[in-house]
Amino acid sequence: AKQDGRARFHFFSAEIEESLRSRHRLASDLRLALEGRQFRLHYQPQVAAGSGRIVGVEALLRWPRSGAPATSPAAFIPMAEESGLIVPLGAWVLGEACAAACRWRDAGAPTRVSVNVSAVQFLDPGWLDLVRATLARTGLTAGLLELEITEGVLARDLPRTLGIINELKAIGVSIALDDFGTGYSSLSYLKRFPIDVLKIDQSFVREMTDDPCDAAIVGAVTRMAQGLGLQLVAEGVETPAQADLLAQLGCGIMQGYRFSRPVPEEDLLRLLLHGTLT
Ligand code: C2E
Ligand code: CA
Ligand code: CA
Ligand code: CA
Repeated sequence: AKQDGRARFHFFSAEIEESLRSRHRLASDLRLALEGRQFRLHYQPQVAAGSGRIVGVEALLRWPRSGAPATSPAAFIPMAEESGLIVPLGAWVLGEACAAACRWRDAGAPTRVSVNVSAVQFLDPGWLDLVRATLARTGLTAGLLELEITEGVLARDLPRTLGIINELKAIGVSIALDDFGTGYSSLSYLKRFPIDVLKIDQSFVREMTDDPCDAAIVGAVTRMAQGLGLQLVAEGVETPAQADLLAQLGCGIMQGYRFSRPVPEEDLLRLLLHGTLT
């Protein structure tokens, strides 16, 4: 069988061979980076529309590599998922984010932290125990933890996902639906799953001030969120014009470069102690 594989391998073009090699390299670089504690988290504020008060922060993974340009998680998370490394990597992210939230609380600025969770992690058999153990170990109140999942997670295994979400809610953790409107959107998910927060995708926000169609979608999602009693967070808010229009449409919470880029923990604490971002 091994020879068979080798024979077939010769049919691969040099390009595919090179791409396989670089993917393999990325996978092993990721593993080494996790072992070498090279990953960092940055935190991006979520701001209340009226007051400019910081109501929460999203933890975003960073991989600073000496000699190499910073690689976006959008590029390496899929490889971490494919190789299974997302499970230990995601465990580290959760632990680090909860520990940071404890430090902000102890510094007098208790703040909810949102952690991105991929489908592979969410459906991992050890996931619920990991969340419980992490909260216990760090001493973070469950109410200060939010988990961001995408519509893709909900589509995987409906009864199982519902069970996991119900357990998390019972612990006191809140759930945000990320990138809303881009995936396999089904409005029935909003009815079936006890979600707390909708994050409308930045692709709608980006064009909103030029494209009436996007503005109409954002407006409709805002009203829907209100009707369902969900918090709505607009992502990727970059300009004052976008922020103004979002506020007019009734969007409660905004996140984006307009207010702050994702920043290291110490910088975030300074923003939190200052209180508002306008
Ligand atoms: P996401 O969860 O949708 O995160 C929002 C992305 O938009 C982040 O990109 C953030 O830096 C970026 N962003 C924030 N404000 C603005 C803005 O005003 N304009 C623009 N153009 N972009 C803005 P980032 O940090 O590169 O992360 C990319 C994706 O990687 C995330 O998308 C998320 O899907 C994934 N990711 C990041 N950290 C983690 C993690 O710890 N675990 C998992 N599973 N996925 C993660
Ligand atoms: Ca997110
Ligand atoms: Ca998002
Ligand atoms: Ca995204």
